[in-house]
Amino acid sequence: MRLSRYFLPVLKETPSEAQIASHRLMLRAGMIKQATAGIYSWLPLGFKVLRKLENIVHEEQVRAGHVPMLMPTLQSADLWRESGRYDDYGAEMLRITDRHGRDMLYGPTNEELITDIFRAHVGSYKDLPLTLYHIQWKFRDEVRPRFGVMRGREFFMKDGYNFDLTKEDALHAYNRHMVSYLRTYERMGLQAIPMRADSGPIGGDDTHEFLVLAETGESEVFYDSAITDLKLGERVVDYDSRAECEDIVTEWTTPYARTDETHDEAKFNAIPEDRRRSSRGIEVGQIFYFGTKYSEPMGATVQGPDGKPVPVHMGSHGIGVSRLVGAIIEASHDDKGIIWPEGVTPFHAGIVNLKQGDSEADAACEALYASLTALGLEPLYDDRDERAGGKFATMDLIGLPWRITVGPRGLKNGVVELTSRRTGESEELPPEAAVEKLAQIYAGHVLRPAF
Ligand code: ATP
Ligand code: MG
Repeated sequence: MRLSRYFLPVLKETPSEAQIASHRLMLRAGMIKQATAGIYSWLPLGFKVLRKLENIVHEEQVRAGHVPMLMPTLQSADLWRESGRYDDYGAEMLRITDRHGRDMLYGPTNEELITDIFRAHVGSYKDLPLTLYHIQWKFRDEVRPRFGVMRGREFFMKDGYNFDLTKEDALHAYNRHMVSYLRTYERMGLQAIPMRADSGPIGGDDTHEFLVLAETGESEVFYDSAITDLKLGERVVDYDSRAECEDIVTEWTTPYARTDETHDEAKFNAIPEDRRRSSRGIEVGQIFYFGTKYSEPMGATVQGPDGKPVPVHMGSHGIGVSRLVGAIIEASHDDKGIIWPEGVTPFHAGIVNLKQGDSEADAACEALYASLTALGLEPLYDDRDERAGGKFATMDLIGLPWRITVGPRGLKNGVVELTSRRTGESEELPPEAAVEKLAQIYAGHVLRPAF
């Protein structure tokens, strides 16, 4: 993309309404614009990051054997009356009446709708296990929408639902989700710690939230610092293996990690003192096992091996895709702007032409642009006729992890400058070597979303 043809409405001033870094930076970097309280338009740069996150979520869900689909945003109130949640959900649910006077709602989550689909089409235990998921906009009429996309009213969420014959099968689904979530966050360059949590309006016995540590997080968290050393890394996981999934879950749930809702002072104090940590965290996902809470009242049964109908065991699993954009920025920025991890960056590298209109500099930039594009990378070329200082400031603000600076002086010696946004370190090297280095850096990353 050439900046002269893009739409990147960066702001010079710091917007006064934004209280935390990610919100300020998303507004300043021209990623979002508020449409009305808690509802945002995703401008091109923000939309690109959102799509990258969505793609990672899809890839890891499909890898775990879960099946993608799409349910609508608007639902009928009738299903929610069946589960008993129409009255329970309260003021957070946006209720709408259609022209025929029928009660509708903008879905805050989809347990009822998916259970209705399941009971209409699945009749035998032989069709299990089954996990269906979608990534769709949700609406919750939050009392205090704030912090930009972190606590919006309309937000983009992956929600998945498992259907299993027995509790043991459903617990395998729970473990599989935990492992696939750990991988998902790692690919986004994030550490999200699974913490035992409270089940809230979804209900159920077993639940973990995934929290990204950040001072601006809304949850208070307590944990054993040993958990921050854990990494899945390159481990290849067989999601069908119960033992393998369970081992990974045991590894991650053995060190103490809880939110204030389930915090246990005595257990916390049993951790060696130098490993005890309390801080704040951003909830970026949650998994639940809730057994037959929905299948029983809604009649979602299958014919079991003995021919008798049994209600299925279910769980639901959510990732806050739009909130993650903010959470990643909270975890990765400095006073100049955002610092995107390679796995989610909207463009792989910026090209800054120090002397636009200089025929050699222009030609060198065009050649770099063409070689990077040929490798499947997406460069953002600042081809505007602007001061170098302004170009650098824009690149730093929007946070591309790598910048190639091209100027007549370097070109005389046959070199360009490659700069890391994270460390600020630069090296001079021939243009082909810079391209080669970027190719190596991005090897193993999915470059363009398939979805
Ligand atoms: P919270 O406690 O932050 O209100 P929740 O526990 O009610 O969230 P879940 O039902 O667990 O939310 O939804 C799954 C995920 O969706 C959450 O982990 C979070 O990342 C995201 N999410 C929930 N509410 C919002 C919101 N208002 N804005 C943006 N993302 C949200
Ligand atoms: Mg939650």
